[in-house]
Amino acid sequence: MGSLTTENGSPYTVPLIINDKEIRTSTTFPVISPLDGKEIWTCSGASKQDALDAVAAAHAAFPAWSKTKPSERRDLFLRAADIIERRKEELGGYMHLEIGADKAYQEFILGLSIEGLRDTAGRIAGAVTGSVPESNHPGMKAIIYKQPYGVVLGIAPWNAPYHLGLRSITFALATGNTAILKGPEFSPRCYWAIVDVFREAGLPTGCLNLILHRPADAAAVTEALIAAPEVKKTNFTGSSAVGSIIASLSGKYLKPSLMELGGKASVVVLADADIEKASLQCVMGAFMNAGQICMSTERIIVHSSIADKFQEKLKEQVSRIFGTKETIPVIITAASARRNRGLIEDAVSHGGAIVNPDSTGEDLGYETKMRPTILAGLDASSKLYLTESFGPSVSFFTYDKEDDAIALANNTDYGLSAGVFSENLGAAFRVADRLDSGAVHINSMTVHDEFALPHGGVKSSGFGRFNGYQGLEEFLYCKTVTWME
Ligand code: NAD
Repeated sequence: MGSLTTENGSPYTVPLIINDKEIRTSTTFPVISPLDGKEIWTCSGASKQDALDAVAAAHAAFPAWSKTKPSERRDLFLRAADIIERRKEELGGYMHLEIGADKAYQEFILGLSIEGLRDTAGRIAGAVTGSVPESNHPGMKAIIYKQPYGVVLGIAPWNAPYHLGLRSITFALATGNTAILKGPEFSPRCYWAIVDVFREAGLPTGCLNLILHRPADAAAVTEALIAAPEVKKTNFTGSSAVGSIIASLSGKYLKPSLMELGGKASVVVLADADIEKASLQCVMGAFMNAGQICMSTERIIVHSSIADKFQEKLKEQVSRIFGTKETIPVIITAASARRNRGLIEDAVSHGGAIVNPDSTGEDLGYETKMRPTILAGLDASSKLYLTESFGPSVSFFTYDKEDDAIALANNTDYGLSAGVFSENLGAAFRVADRLDSGAVHINSMTVHDEFALPHGGVKSSGFGRFNGYQGLEEFLYCKTVTWME
C-alpha cells in the first residue's frame, strides 16, 4: 500500500494534479477514517486560481487529444485497467482507510472499474459516428458529424470511489474530450489514485487534472470551474440537493449537464417469487457498503401470501451475512451514523417496529459501526418513508393488489433503480413497465451499475446517461454541415 506518511515521518498530504504536476497547497484539511475517527492524512484544498489552472491545462491538451486515433485511446484504457489490476492492494487499502470498505466491497468496486475500462476500450472504435440525412432543400446535401465538446468537468462522490470517479471521466476521455476530475473530501486519495493510474498509463499531460477542495470552498471552486468558458459540459454524481445546485449553476452559465443523483429503490416481490434467492438479493441490495449506494434497496414490498416466510428469510440472511462484529458495516462519518440512528428512532416513534432487534448486546466499538436494520409497519408520517436513508436500514411492506404495490414503489421523488422478483417473466415485465425508474432489475438486486449498460435516473434521480454507447454519446455534440451541389 502507498505510504501513510512522508519519508521524514510527517503526515502525507494528498496533492492536486494539474498538468501532471502534484501541487500541495497551504489550505489543507484533515481526512478522517470512519474506522476509528482518526486523521489518516491531510488533503490539499484548491483555490479558484488552482481550478482555473486545471481548466487551462485541460484546454491546452484538447486539440491534440481530440485528434488521437481511436486505437490509441483504446490501448491507453487497456493499460490503465492493467495498472489498476496490478495496484489493487494499494487502491483497496485507500478505500479501506478512507471509507471503511471491507475486502468484498473493495474487490467489487475495483473489479467493476477494471472491467469498465476494458469494456469501454472495446467500444471506442466506432463510437464516434455520424450520418448523412436527406435535406428538403433542392440541391443541398448534408452530413452530421459527432464532435467532442472540449473540457468536461466530472464531479463525483466518495461512496464507490474508483468506479464513480472513473465513470465521470472515462466516457469523456474516450470520445476525445479532456477532463477535470473534482473529487470528494472523504476519499481524496482514491481520486488521486485514479489520475495517477492514467498518468502511469501514459495519458498525455493536461488531459486529466485533479481538483480537491476544502468543504468550505465547495461553492466558490465549483462555480469557478463551471463558469470558465473553456469548460463545455459538466457531469455530477451525488445527492439530489447538491445536484440541484450544480444543475442551477450549469443553467446560469448555459452549459449542458448530466446528473446522477439520489435514489430510494423499491423491490416488489410477487407471490410466486423464489423466496430463498429473492431474500438474499434484497439483503445484499439493502446492506452492501452499509446501504451507502444510490441504488440501495430501501423498500421491500412483498405479497401478503408469502410475507411471513419472506420476513423470516430476510432475518436469517442478515444474521448469517452481517452477524459478527467483523462483518457489521461502517458508515462514512459519525454524523451520518447518528442521522441514520435518528431516522430509525423516528420510524419507531411513529409506530414502526424493528424486525431484527439486536440480541447480542456486543459493543461494536467506534460509533460509525451500525447493525443492518429491517423495519416493518413504517408509517407514511415517518421521516424515513420519503427520505433516502443512505444507510443500513430497509423497510418491509406487504400488499394484496399489484396496483397497490406499484403505487407504493412509485411514491417517492426518486427513480433510479428498482427490482421485481417473480418466476413468471410476463408478470415481472408487467410490473417493470409500470415502475418509474431508470432501471428495473428482475430477479437480481437493485445495486447494478456496469459500464456496458446505460445508467441514470428519472424524477429527482437526475437526467442523462452514463455507460454503454449512450454514455459515449453524452460527451459528443452534433454538427450539421451542408453543401450545395
Ligand atoms: P454530495 O452531494 O454531498 O457530494 C457529492 C459531490 O459534491 C462531492 O464531490 C462534494 O465535494 C460536492 N459538493 C458538496 N457540496 C457542494 C456544494 N455546495 N457545491 C459544490 N459541490 C459540492 O453527495 P455524497 O454524500 O458524497 O454522496 C451521496 C449521494 O450521492 C447520495 O444521495 C447517493 O444516492 C448519491 N449517488 C448517486 C449515484 C448515481 O449514480 N446516481 C452514485 C453514487 C451516489
